[in-house]
Amino acid sequence: MRLNYKNYTVIIILVLALSLMAGCASQTPYFKLDNSLQNDIKNFSGFQYVPLSRLCDVYGFECQWDSYIKTAILRKGSHKIVIRTDSDRVLVDGSIKKASRPVLLDTGAVYVPISFVREDLAQLIKSAPIEKPPVLEEVRKYSIKTIVLDPGHGGKDPGAIGRRGHLKEKDVTLRLARKIKDVLEASGVRVIMTRDSDVFIPLPKRADIANKSGADLFVSVHINASRSRLMRGFECYHLSNATDDNARVLEAFEDSSLRMGEGAEAEHSSQLDKALWDMALTENRLESAELASYVCDSVDQSFTISNKGIKSARFYVLKHTHIPAVLLEAGYISNRYEEAKLKDPSFIDKLASAIGGGILKYKREYERTEGFTKK
Ligand SMILES: [Zn+2]
Repeated sequence: MRLNYKNYTVIIILVLALSLMAGCASQTPYFKLDNSLQNDIKNFSGFQYVPLSRLCDVYGFECQWDSYIKTAILRKGSHKIVIRTDSDRVLVDGSIKKASRPVLLDTGAVYVPISFVREDLAQLIKSAPIEKPPVLEEVRKYSIKTIVLDPGHGGKDPGAIGRRGHLKEKDVTLRLARKIKDVLEASGVRVIMTRDSDVFIPLPKRADIANKSGADLFVSVHINASRSRLMRGFECYHLSNATDDNARVLEAFEDSSLRMGEGAEAEHSSQLDKALWDMALTENRLESAELASYVCDSVDQSFTISNKGIKSARFYVLKHTHIPAVLLEAGYISNRYEEAKLKDPSFIDKLASAIGGGILKYKREYERTEGFTKK
């Protein structure tokens, strides 16, 4: 009897040791949810979820929720997670993850599938310290050093063409962008041009240049056109979820050069989830709107051209850049008065100094108020 009892003990110890070893060897060790969350677990269609607010409390994530676009940004240390309700795509430190179930909104609260917490958040929860090191906050510098200028169209894509003088949008955008570059560089800003000659650059490439450059702002330069020859004036666009009908028409025209990308569009959309690009941009909405307002105000005060103000749209280049971005429509080439003006080098000079001046004023205010957080 005694001997048998001892044998059983040895066997139990062996089994325990083996199962422990197996546990250590497995690549994703089982992540046990914090006990305090047990009472918060809710079932949706047979799947377990936890409320996002509790998850953030328990694991020390800083959580920002935008109810308008139903998107949450979670931060912990240097980690950043972007989630959107009704979507199973999640952005974890810039890379797209697919959760097994979509994030849900139920009676005003956001619920995250437990499977996602275990599979993807567990690593971040374990690795990042709960207390945020104060050093990280101080390291963040509010400075604008590099700006991408994007002269619209080019090469085989002429853009809009003036009816009277047959002026091409692609030529004016390049001339204007070069002059804006001079204004910015004179103030010590580094400028990257998406093109500096008459070449065709597909839109995805332009967005790519902006995203990979490490630049702080993106300014796309275009000239407007309308069936109505009376339409004239300067407009600044920034990204928004809301668009009006005029903006939609313009969007369709500016994005038509996407179709000239010879398969670039198809290749692009298969790789990228449109909704995710929008999500990646949400944090720049405020800055983009501010930038648009500084540029428009400066143009308004320069009296070089009538100002039609700030508008919002979903242009391809704006939707696909990760940095604050605006698209300028610097007058109407379809209006004969403005077409003549756009041909005049001294007008281009004045307009460039007004636009550049607005960008520089934005830069100064952004730096002074630490990203518009201080008055
Ligand atoms: Zn254009």
